[in-house]
Amino acid sequence: MMKVSLDLTCSVCGHGQFRLPNRPEEGSKVCCANCTAFKCHTMDLERALMAIGQPRPTPQPSIAA
Ligand SMILES: [Zn+2]
Repeated sequence: MMKVSLDLTCSVCGHGQFRLPNRPEEGSKVCCANCTAFKCHTMDLERALMAIGQPRPTPQPSIAA
């Protein structure tokens, strides 16, 4: 997970930093960096990821030569 500041606020504590998954196995959950509430999971996730330039995890095509 990486900690980022987003133009969002936690719906629980109002904190403005969140932990974003940066590995596929971490899923797509966004949690508050302060209270770790998964309530921070937001429909703004797509926009938030774009804002920080994080490419969405895409499955790597297996190369079968
Ligand atoms: Zn919070």
